[in-house]
Amino acid sequence: MINAVNIPRLLATLSIALTAILPYSRANAEKPSLLMIMIDTQRMDAAGCYGNNRPTTPILDRISQNGTLSVNAVSTCCWTTPATASMITGLYPSTMRGKQPAKLPPSDKAWFWRWRFSEEALTLAEHLKENGYATAGFVANNILTSDRGFAQGFDQYKLVKNPSPADKVNREVMEFIDQDLKDTPFFLYVHYYDPHGPYRPPKPWLKMMDQPESAQGRPLAPELFKKDYGYLRIAGLKTLEQYRDRYHAEVRYTDQFLGELIRALARKGLHKNLNIVISSDHGETFLEHGKLGHRNYLYQEEIKVPLIFQGPKVPKGWLHPGLTQIIDAFPSVCNLLKIPIPKHLTGVNLFSTVPQRLMSRHIITETNTRHIQRAIHKDNWKLIMDQNDRSRLFNLKTDPQESRNVIKTHKDVSLQLKVLLDQWAQGQLNKQLPTLSIDVEKMDPEIVKSLEALGYISE
Ligand SMILES: [Zn+2]
Repeated sequence: MINAVNIPRLLATLSIALTAILPYSRANAEKPSLLMIMIDTQRMDAAGCYGNNRPTTPILDRISQNGTLSVNAVSTCCWTTPATASMITGLYPSTMRGKQPAKLPPSDKAWFWRWRFSEEALTLAEHLKENGYATAGFVANNILTSDRGFAQGFDQYKLVKNPSPADKVNREVMEFIDQDLKDTPFFLYVHYYDPHGPYRPPKPWLKMMDQPESAQGRPLAPELFKKDYGYLRIAGLKTLEQYRDRYHAEVRYTDQFLGELIRALARKGLHKNLNIVISSDHGETFLEHGKLGHRNYLYQEEIKVPLIFQGPKVPKGWLHPGLTQIIDAFPSVCNLLKIPIPKHLTGVNLFSTVPQRLMSRHIITETNTRHIQRAIHKDNWKLIMDQNDRSRLFNLKTDPQESRNVIKTHKDVSLQLKVLLDQWAQGQLNKQLPTLSIDVEKMDPEIVKSLEALGYISE
């Protein structure tokens, strides 16, 4: 919202320390608080609670056992900025863009990384602040700057500049939780970065995940690291399996410090009336469709993410069977905190919607990097379309790897999905918020350098 963003936008790109906690009344002490964790690049099946048979996420597994785990959760996009904006605004990326034709626009590779989300978008932080919450965000991804809108609604927003391992992020968070928050409902947003490439886990965690047999795995061709994938290269690694071991070590490392953060909150007595939601902005691919990293396409390995809730009113041990999306977090959290759900939100409250209804809904994912694509997923079917109207149809039940395009034999299904996708795109036109753009010349040179290293600037 425009009024709430004025202060953060006047401040510089990096750390914003608006540390003042407003005087909250004792009545607020009864209000539940919220911890939202985003683990950047946490692919769904990298977590034990989602079927990984390696000990990658003991903390996440425990949290999911004590809460609700969404079995079929996806992001809205396959890279950080739009996906994270979706999480905190409850809107699709294209809602947050300006005039965009219903038909996919011609390639404009520059706008996506320059893009900031509209000041008119209500963020979860703004909504909670309006409802009496102290709000603080600590993020370890250099692209989530305040000039892109991510500080909107936070009393305190700190960009912990890369390299920023989870223990360093936690040290920043400690200053926030060291304040007297017992009579203050709070919203604490923490965005960890470690599973994002390049994978450089500390040795003890690498040792936990390193498997000697991985050296005999599938060779990694040097061509994979050409162009803007260069940042993913890790000296000395020869196989895909070694490469994935590194990723799992980063996941394991992050999980450990997630546990430390939760223990720190418990030591302060802040855990009793605390709701936790944990998710990710996107997944990561390991050559399933010929690529590494993310920002490539909308196949499942890049969009499926964990979505886990825990809290006093969250059903324990529930495996939510519906088709869900990160934009469902905003309304679901409002339900858990007993505050009004803003009417404009696109997602649904997972705790009051009959799960069966969510099993047959259709959801959309979209991206505008490398290839402009949109995908629609309904029941077992998924249709992916690009800007040239090229379509691929997959049956996710019989072909979860999305290896067989069955569009020629199921023209009726693809037509039905295409109609739904077109209707959705038309609907987006009515919802879109004004686009704002970042002035590259005014960006912090250090941030620009780090984004170049990650391949973002070359987009
Ligand atoms: Zn990301």
